[in-house]
Amino acid sequence: MRTGVTVSAVSGEGVRLADGELVAADEVLVAIGSQPNTEWLADSGLALSDGLVCDRYSAAAPDVYGAGDVARWHNDLFGVPMRIEHRTNAAEQGMAVARNLLRPGERKPFAPVPYFWSDQYDMKIQAYGYLRGHDAVEVVDGALAQRRFVAAYRSGDRLTGVLAVGMSPKVIRPWRSAIAGGVTWSQAIGPAKPGPAVTENEVMSGERAG
Ligand SMILES: Cc1cc2nc3c(=O)[nH]c(=O)nc-3n(C[C@H](O)[C@H](O)[C@H](O)COP(=O)(O)OP(=O)(O)OC[C@H]3O[C@@H](n4cnc5c(N)ncnc54)[C@H](O)[C@@H]3O)c2cc1C
Repeated sequence: MRTGVTVSAVSGEGVRLADGELVAADEVLVAIGSQPNTEWLADSGLALSDGLVCDRYSAAAPDVYGAGDVARWHNDLFGVPMRIEHRTNAAEQGMAVARNLLRPGERKPFAPVPYFWSDQYDMKIQAYGYLRGHDAVEVVDGALAQRRFVAAYRSGDRLTGVLAVGMSPKVIRPWRSAIAGGVTWSQAIGPAKPGPAVTENEVMSGERAG
């Protein structure tokens, strides 16, 4: 995995990186991200901003709700609007929206701890919480060099997310309750170190010894 470098050209020889290096390849798979499919809502009068803008109840307008990848809603637990492209969120938000639609007098805000897991070859990746807009990431269990670790994310004095690689679900599950309970960093981990402990790129590529 190469981080912090862009692709300048793809040719019969392979992939040319912006720093001039040629990575030889027979096949090239391009994965360039995704965009919410909201063109059909352009003239609807609904607010669109990288997704369908929804409130804390996932409502875009009276009796109009959004759920899943397309919805950018306000998650009260983290105090920010977010759009989550995870399978679990799509299912949970769909159920929450159904309840709010069917019981308009008892609507509840949708304020989950986002979760995703993915198996990449023999490596299980799991994450709870919101892994953006943080101030620091710190490895709190295992080590990057072993490719088996838990990294915790801090925003201000709050624990806002954890990412586990190569760990059993049992190891990471208790962190979910901590994030849901809005615990402070010092309650969960100890005194915060000044500045970022590891960068996002280092966590994702395991470049630094833990
Ligand atoms: C390659 C890939 C790998 C992924 N891996 C993971 C993973 O490992 N773990 C994980 O948690 N998540 C993963 N995801 C994300 C997960 O698949 C999505 O979060 C989830 O499918 C979102 O569900 P959804 O119902 O919101 O949207 P979708 O599943 O995208 O469903 C939206 C549906 O609406 C239809 N549609 C769009 N516009 C219109 C229209 N105008 N009229 C009628 N129908 C319309 C679309 O055709 C589609 O069928 C992955 C996604 C991709 C693409």
